[in-house]
Amino acid sequence: MAKTVRCLDIGLKCLFQAKGESFAGLLEQMRLHLHEAHDGMTIVPTTEKAIKQAVKDQRWGRFAQ
Ligand SMILES: [Zn+2]
Repeated sequence: MAKTVRCLDIGLKCLFQAKGESFAGLLEQMRLHLHEAHDGMTIVPTTEKAIKQAVKDQRWGRFAQ
């Protein structure tokens, strides 16, 4: 099941949405995006916690897998 998280969900005024099959993949996408689009922002433990809480499982279509 794909997981998604948006910058908006963690309090940033940005429409970027990261999507991944695992939390680790999602975190990696956010890490790259924050670095490139938010002035080299890095993921600190509080950021990671915010992402963890904001993450959503995508339930479009089937539930399979
Ligand atoms: Zn962003």
